[in-house]
Amino acid sequence: MIPKGKLQREKLKIVASCSECSGSGCSKCAMKCARVEKYCDSGIPVSYWMRSFKDFAGDQKFKEKIKPVVSDIDSFYDKGTSMMFVGNLGTGKSYMACVILKMQYQKTMIANIQQWQI
Ligand SMILES: [Zn+2]
Repeated sequence: MIPKGKLQREKLKIVASCSECSGSGCSKCAMKCARVEKYCDSGIPVSYWMRSFKDFAGDQKFKEKIKPVVSDIDSFYDKGTSMMFVGNLGTGKSYMACVILKMQYQKTMIANIQQWQI
């Protein structure tokens, strides 16, 4: 369970750094705040909320293996495919699992980290 205080701090950072409204509040940062609320409810660790597949700096071979999954996330879920990530510390296993989970949420509006066992 992620403390609600962390969520509030992240939402304040989102609004304060919004390029559209510069902190006064607009639909763009409101949508981002709604998204992080869902990430919070889904159990995605705070440190992964703002990270994307594009920004991944871990093992690049791993990134290449995952690229087909993230480029066609719908068929990945439709097939009911399972994945298990195994690797050394710093490979990017948790990062990539969170990226996929966030993509699932953005597509289906449903995500739950318990299914992922990170
Ligand atoms: Zn804004």
